[in-house]
Amino acid sequence: MSEVILPPAMIGIIGGGQLGRMMAIAARQMGYRIGVLEPGPNGPLAQIADLEINAAYDDEHALRQLLDASAVTTYEFENISAETVADLAAHGNLPQGPRPVAITQHRLLEKNAINEAGFETAPYANVPTADSLDSAVAQIGYPAILKTVTGGYDGKGQRVLSAAEDLLQARELVSDSPCILEGFVPFDKEISVIVTRSVTGEIQTFEPVENVHKNGILHLSMVPAVISAEVVAKAEAVARGLMEKLDFIGTLAIEMFVVGDDIVINELAPRPHNSGHLTIDAHNVSQFEQHIRAISGLPLVAPQRIAPSVMVNLLGQHVDYALEQWQKPEYGWGKLHLYGKAENKRDRKVGHLTFVNSDADLLSDTITNFLADFPD
Ligand code: AMP
Repeated sequence: MSEVILPPAMIGIIGGGQLGRMMAIAARQMGYRIGVLEPGPNGPLAQIADLEINAAYDDEHALRQLLDASAVTTYEFENISAETVADLAAHGNLPQGPRPVAITQHRLLEKNAINEAGFETAPYANVPTADSLDSAVAQIGYPAILKTVTGGYDGKGQRVLSAAEDLLQARELVSDSPCILEGFVPFDKEISVIVTRSVTGEIQTFEPVENVHKNGILHLSMVPAVISAEVVAKAEAVARGLMEKLDFIGTLAIEMFVVGDDIVINELAPRPHNSGHLTIDAHNVSQFEQHIRAISGLPLVAPQRIAPSVMVNLLGQHVDYALEQWQKPEYGWGKLHLYGKAENKRDRKVGHLTFVNSDADLLSDTITNFLADFPD
């Protein structure tokens, strides 16, 4: 059995954005100390860390410094090279290893891995160069979505292809960067399952979260998802099965499309995820605490929802409006989370607001009213 890491040991986090910050808040509450490696000073996580190392994500010397100072080290994002993670895992305690990063930072490898594990994705074709676009379209048909194999997030690096007239723009995208072409899934709902697998092999899933996107960026997340008990059970079984088959450790998000009674996997994030932020206020354990428990060898908590909940994402352009509304009693019970970013940039995630209430009608009315004048 692996050694349990107890507070006040130091937990190292590679990447200093909001996900790292919320991991750190959960860890500090339990008494752990936090080290962070992040290129720029005083980011969202560094503001609450004990040890801040400012260096590039591929600075081997600085990464080892973090690892040496920490009893266990994790990462808050998938944009670190898998080779770097492999080197670090060989050198110190980084129990997640390179596999989650290697697979999820490459859409083609990710789709292959999911299918090989026996789970369904959208139909897809490899489009390594502009020359291969026509044969991919012949195979997949319209409508389809062309996505860059690496580097895309929040709907960036994607083009929807509805007809032949969209091919010109699509060719530009694939000329810049290798792509895959995905068949468009006519989904009824988008859900995600936050799942955690510990270094001991224990797995726990949160109930599925229902997600609404706007302009390719997550807008709302809700529990309970309005889906049948059968789909809930399927989604949780898919999440567990994937974690076992892919041998992943830590908290991951699995984004899924619900099509009738079927589950189609969209993508994986090898870390806590925006759609799981409501677990901080709506459940007896958060996705972040669960992640810290998983990498520290502590038993996981069986998640229970306290009450129905809706999370509203706050992008840069939403902050002034949200702060104005939140001062009013009808919205003041919303749990405000601002990430301490230096600027409120347009279309960048700078915070969220989570409403939790056992009165589902009050919850729904509050969200409707709150969003009535929400800026675009
Ligand atoms: P992604 O960055 O791959 O998660 O895509 C962002 C959003 O685009 C998803 O949340 C969906 O709303 C939509 N989307 C992506 N891929 C597909 C697909 N194959 N079929 C239908 N909608 C999709």
